[in-house]
Amino acid sequence: MWRVGTVIALHDETATARTITLEIPDWPRHVAGQHVDVRLTAADGYSAVRSYSIASAPNSEGRVQITVERFPNGEVSPYLTQEVVVGDRLELRGPIGGWFVWRSQQAEPVLLVAGGSGIVPLMAMIRSRAAAGSAAPFRLLYSVREPGAVYYRDELRALSAGGDRSVMVSYAYTRTVPKDWPRPPRRVDAALIAATNWPADLGPTCYVCGPTPFVETLANLLTASGNDRDKIKTERFGPTGDQKG
Ligand SMILES: Cc1cc2nc3c(=O)[nH]c(=O)nc-3n(C[C@H](O)[C@H](O)[C@H](O)COP(=O)(O)OP(=O)(O)OC[C@H]3O[C@@H](n4cnc5c(N)ncnc54)[C@H](O)[C@@H]3O)c2cc1C
Repeated sequence: MWRVGTVIALHDETATARTITLEIPDWPRHVAGQHVDVRLTAADGYSAVRSYSIASAPNSEGRVQITVERFPNGEVSPYLTQEVVVGDRLELRGPIGGWFVWRSQQAEPVLLVAGGSGIVPLMAMIRSRAAAGSAAPFRLLYSVREPGAVYYRDELRALSAGGDRSVMVSYAYTRTVPKDWPRPPRRVDAALIAATNWPADLGPTCYVCGPTPFVETLANLLTASGNDRDKIKTERFGPTGDQKG
């Protein structure tokens, strides 16, 4: 079922990524980790559908935030990141997904692993945990090309500096590191996983999201380091360009 949401705010996360806040009447409350489909329709009736993870925590106000990374030659993301203005109306379907979710009743330790824009649904989990006052132990490993590509930077900094209940946030910069960073650029590898993850005997749930090759590498690394396969949940941000309708 398609619904119409009104754009009520826009915020640039980086030079190429924008957060869009929508208000959607009768929107069913979502769960952190779910996504929506967005449908754009041109004047001649041609339409394109793309999936976007929900960045915001579940709420009862019918508000949904998505954060879109611009693919310069893409059909949909340049429009969403450059053309959309406050007051525009967008068609959405969802919330979608029931496996890659974190519910506030979960109390076990959690490892979140993001590759680039894969941070979006993991941020919804972090925000959901904070909104629910949950004490579930959370760690985030965020792989990103360079410091300027980090989404939600200030919020993550605040959430990781909040004492006992804070989220431990680690970064893996793959191309350029911040000034005075102690290590050269690196991809996430077994050593970094070992340094970041919870001991396997605590039975952590791992959520991995990002481009398909990143997700597959990380799922293998986590399995090799002793994590239970059933507790490794993955979401792949592959192209959705074949979905038209
Ligand atoms: C479940 C799910 C959740 C998603 N959540 C988000 C999100 O929160 N934020 C976000 O920015 N994107 C997300 N995506 C990706 C998004 O759906 C689109 O694929 C992306 O915005 C590109 O669409 P486009 O129309 O601009 O590009 P297209 O016109 O579809 O493609 C342009 C070119 O870029 C390539 N391409 C497109 N998408 C990707 C990709 N993801 N990785 C590598 N190459 C690609 C295509 O092969 C093509 O060559 C998600 C995808 C899925 C399946």
